[in-house]
Amino acid sequence: MLQLTDDLIRSVVQEVVSAMKNGAPVKVASGRFGVFDKVDDAVAAAKKAQAEFEKLGLDARRKAVDCVRRICTERAEELGRDEFEETKIGRLVHKIEKLKTCAEKTPGVEFLRTEAFSGDNGVTVQEFAPFGVVGIITPVTHSLPTLACNAINILAAGNSFVCNPHPSGAKIACKGTRLFNEAIHHAIGIDNLLTIIENPTLESAQAIFDNRDVRLLCVTGGPAVGRAALRSPKRAIVAGPGNPPVVVDETADLDNAARCIIQGGSYDNNLLCIGEKEVFAVADIFEELMQAMTRYKAVRLDAKQIEALTKAAFVKGEGGKEVINKDLIGQDAAVLAKHAGLSIPADTELIFGETDEHHPFVDHEQMMPFVPFVKTRDVDTAIALAQKYEHGFRHTAIIHSRNIDTITKMARVMDTTLFVQNGPSTASLGGGGEGYLSFSIATPTGEGVTTPLTFTRQRRSTTAAGGLRIF
Ligand code: NAD
Repeated sequence: MLQLTDDLIRSVVQEVVSAMKNGAPVKVASGRFGVFDKVDDAVAAAKKAQAEFEKLGLDARRKAVDCVRRICTERAEELGRDEFEETKIGRLVHKIEKLKTCAEKTPGVEFLRTEAFSGDNGVTVQEFAPFGVVGIITPVTHSLPTLACNAINILAAGNSFVCNPHPSGAKIACKGTRLFNEAIHHAIGIDNLLTIIENPTLESAQAIFDNRDVRLLCVTGGPAVGRAALRSPKRAIVAGPGNPPVVVDETADLDNAARCIIQGGSYDNNLLCIGEKEVFAVADIFEELMQAMTRYKAVRLDAKQIEALTKAAFVKGEGGKEVINKDLIGQDAAVLAKHAGLSIPADTELIFGETDEHHPFVDHEQMMPFVPFVKTRDVDTAIALAQKYEHGFRHTAIIHSRNIDTITKMARVMDTTLFVQNGPSTASLGGGGEGYLSFSIATPTGEGVTTPLTFTRQRRSTTAAGGLRIF
């Protein structure tokens, strides 16, 4: 049921006053600004909004996308802080930065370039049409940034969405959705292009998968949600888990390798699916690399300290299986160090230490700023282990090497969606590397870093008999 809150009353009054000031007809929104209790209501509203949106054309899409970009930029500090306080994982500075980067680097309407074929038979154009309502599922690790990136891609492609956010990041996802809708309604007169379930559950996710009016799914998260989406009869874009390995060989610039491993592995306390999760370094340079790490605010743990941290970081789950202790996911390096019996400066970026390959920190996608380093006899062994512990996700892999043959070999063996050489993992999403950004990297289903094109249907228009060819 619609709650008559102060915020809602204020926003309705603002709408009316601003429309009157502009001399525009007073077109008051439904007042929900995208936030719904029930999936069927959210989908129905998103369907209606999308039909109106489609009629308005490309300029309206640009305006809607600009609303999302503007709010992510102008209110990054407030929204980043809200996300940090709600989820209690990661680092505030990166929550804020992710929103700004998402606004700046996520591609919009300009990405939809029509393809044309012209010849003696005439002209064929291939255009990119919307699907309609897209169902999206977002992770707790970047609740609003994922939603905002998806929103930019999906609106640019002319669609609307219904979102089932992670329950632990639902408040910020709803707040962002409400703000985006308010701004979009103000700019183009349509409410509920972006809809969201206020109290998400696994059942509401399933209801989105099952709703006939949802034409396409985009899920971002771990293995369970990926499997659930792939079981659904509709097409799913799955941005699944990773466990990105780093290989360092004897030709690498070790100082650069250390800085990059710290930069990528510590970003938002290693919550990124692309973040450096384990390192395989050849014996010849192993100690030198470990030394280099300590020069850039990373602290090395000894075997006993690693053992103590491991006891805290992994617990017994269902059927006695070893699982990650969720309480330690995304916590600061200094907090993890306490569990290792060590007191270190609060601004320590990363903790690290030597383990063998069978260690749980190597095997699991830990999402903590502790990175295990495994010594290998040669680079071929390092690459083989990197392949083994990436678990076939084909998500992200990183190498530090100056040997082009080694780089090429690893690229081929890993077969990952993202492959970074001599940089931090974040370079692959435009952070110090070239290219655009999305927080949904579709790995098992192969769409890669999502763009507006990912959310379109190709349509072809053909003029035969030489028609429309103008010379
Ligand atoms: P999670 O899998 O616990 O949750 C992700 C989303 O899926 C949440 O909204 C959750 O409620 C929902 N969900 C979980 N199980 C479900 C099921 N059976 N049916 C329907 N919905 C279900 O993951 P998380 O902790 O929020 O995020 C971290 C994980 O996401 C990591 O594995 C990380 O690698 C991955 N991730 C991948 C990408 C990418 O682009 N490939 C981006 C961010 C995060």
